[in-house]
Amino acid sequence: MTSTYAAVLTGEGRGAISAIRVWGHGCAAIIDEIFQSRVGGAISTGLPGRLRVGTLGGDGGDEVVGVKLEEDPPVYEFQGHAGIAALSRSLDALRSQGVEILEADQWLRTARGDTLETQALIDLKSAPTLPVAERLIDQSQGALSDALREIHTPADLEHLETLIDRGDFGCRMTTGWTVALAGRPNVGKSSLLNVLLGFQRAIVNPIAGTTRDQIRARAAVGGWPVDFIDMAGIRHSDDPIEREGIERSEAAVANADLTLLIFDKSTELHAGDHELLRRYPNAVRVANKSDLSALWSPAADFINVSARTADGVSDLLEEIERRIVPKVLPAGCAIPFRPGQVARLRRLRTTLERGERLPADLPAWVASG
Ligand code: GDP
Repeated sequence: MTSTYAAVLTGEGRGAISAIRVWGHGCAAIIDEIFQSRVGGAISTGLPGRLRVGTLGGDGGDEVVGVKLEEDPPVYEFQGHAGIAALSRSLDALRSQGVEILEADQWLRTARGDTLETQALIDLKSAPTLPVAERLIDQSQGALSDALREIHTPADLEHLETLIDRGDFGCRMTTGWTVALAGRPNVGKSSLLNVLLGFQRAIVNPIAGTTRDQIRARAAVGGWPVDFIDMAGIRHSDDPIEREGIERSEAAVANADLTLLIFDKSTELHAGDHELLRRYPNAVRVANKSDLSALWSPAADFINVSARTADGVSDLLEEIERRIVPKVLPAGCAIPFRPGQVARLRRLRTTLERGERLPADLPAWVASG
């Protein structure tokens, strides 16, 4: 059975340098076999912490910096190039010696246990934006665990409620919020989506019903990940393909965190527009084509924009941010960030309300949710 393991600690395709951790019984002999230090000598007999430049994987292998991190039990790290060819060459060399390659998540769990801090580090690897990464780093450094350690009696219920309330924000941080753009064909949904994303993605075409399929694209709004969904024009249609698009639109609007209803200021409001306003009273109302002469005056709660000139788009982005993240949790806050954790916190509330005994190690119990 294998007892030497390796894991790539760096994210895939996200940097120029890769870090490979190697550990386990027998790893010193294996590494001496496949790592040739430039100055000669076996890395295993050197002092821990000393960096050595060399080649991993024999002739044609990657040029890496190797370091023995721990003597006993032995742990080594190699920092090489992150390109697929170089990295797979190094991993092949390790595999050829019987080393089992683990996922970095597996390594984290093995090395640190499946704690809230480990879970934050795992999610950190795919943090979509800097503010999200900052909040996950807080949790990886114990913000959530520390807050849980303050909970002992029913008197701490309020404190627990605060954590539960933050759960929605915490879970969205990693998955992203969804914002649907809805409106009749030709009001400018695809054009507006392009402006919101800052590049040409949706196909803009003056023929009604061009956007038959949903187009989903991610952007950061105020530093938060948002998936915008451009809907097929919502209207009554006899064309079966068009109708399917419309049905999917309606489902997406129902599932979205926020809907933007787009209207065209340069044409009279249509019966379908009035229907949308009635059906989606909580949507953000957007009057597009403000660069053209207006045929109606939007009420005060409409945001005037022009997808052509980008006028008003920053106001729209501000409103989107205000609606999806009404209260930004500052850095350093304890935030549950996985649905399983939030479910555990809800169970904990019941336990506290009933005056029952709490699990001995609350952070560990919440992490196992
Ligand atoms: P959709 O069917 O709602 O996705 O509408 P499109 O984005 O395809 O736009 C329909 C037409 O309106 C295209 O010819 C766009 O160039 C035009 N259009 C969209 N937004 C604006 C705008 O703000 N101003 C002007 N003048 N034309 C626009």
